[in-house]
Amino acid sequence: MTSTVQPDPTVIGGVPQAPLAFLPNPARLFGTRARRFEFLSQHSENLGPYLEFLGRLVALQDRIARDLPQVTPLPRDRIELARESRMPPIDRAKLATDPDLHILLDRVLSEAQSIEMPEEARLALSAVTAAGVADRHWLVENLLADQIPEDSVAPHLFVALAVQLHLSRLAATLDADALVPIRTGVCPSCGGRPATSSITTVGQLEGVRYATCACCQTRWNEVRVTCLCCGSNEEISYRSVETAEATVRAEECAKCDHWVKILTQSSNPSLEPIADDVGSLGLDLLMKDKGIARGGFNPFLAGF
Ligand SMILES: [Zn+2]
Ligand SMILES: [Zn+2]
Repeated sequence: MTSTVQPDPTVIGGVPQAPLAFLPNPARLFGTRARRFEFLSQHSENLGPYLEFLGRLVALQDRIARDLPQVTPLPRDRIELARESRMPPIDRAKLATDPDLHILLDRVLSEAQSIEMPEEARLALSAVTAAGVADRHWLVENLLADQIPEDSVAPHLFVALAVQLHLSRLAATLDADALVPIRTGVCPSCGGRPATSSITTVGQLEGVRYATCACCQTRWNEVRVTCLCCGSNEEISYRSVETAEATVRAEECAKCDHWVKILTQSSNPSLEPIADDVGSLGLDLLMKDKGIARGGFNPFLAGF
């Protein structure tokens, strides 16, 4: 190839292609999410107080995101090396001891003190605030590994706020066009797991699917009717709580016995990948009764 003319990557062979990824915009993302939690809290019979509480926590993320100076981008050689080895550029394993993340955590814990919250959450906040360096590293490590021990859900909630903030700010400095697909169900920015996926419209492309990273908040393209846990498309079925035209459904895979929520944003653009995941807890309870494991990771839903 000697030509210097580059083809438009979004149009290959005359067919528009969905971009691999949309990077998060932390200055807007958390505000939109906080307002969605607020809306959902007013329209939920059983979950209202919890959704309202989460709305206040996400509003704190929003205030901090808009107040912070830009984060130092990842070194270029690190990004290039990751790309060559088809690895995500954000190396989460290395971030557990990142001083910037821990400064951010301090700020989240300190500003969360003035938020109205249930007693159990208040005790957890005090415990994390008083925790030593080793305990804080352990909490951050768990979130960076997308796992929360069932007996320690509440302290992880506050740490999740800082981890999401820090990683979304790092992801925002990346170049979306320089990312490469890792494998089905894995975030191309940080290697994390999706919370949910959404059917949406991108430009003139209708019905494309994007998964949302529970950690860095990058949205990435996935083929429809494919299990985000094992990558199989052989035994996929859909379930929902409502009988007709449900906009939040469970995509269930009989191959690996996992399920992940899929949101039809094209029917309801207000659906928010993290807030509506919590707002549709009824679907989790339905799937729990069936004995199939939840594949989506969402620290706001740990313990349910
Ligand atoms: Zn990610
Ligand atoms: Zn599967």
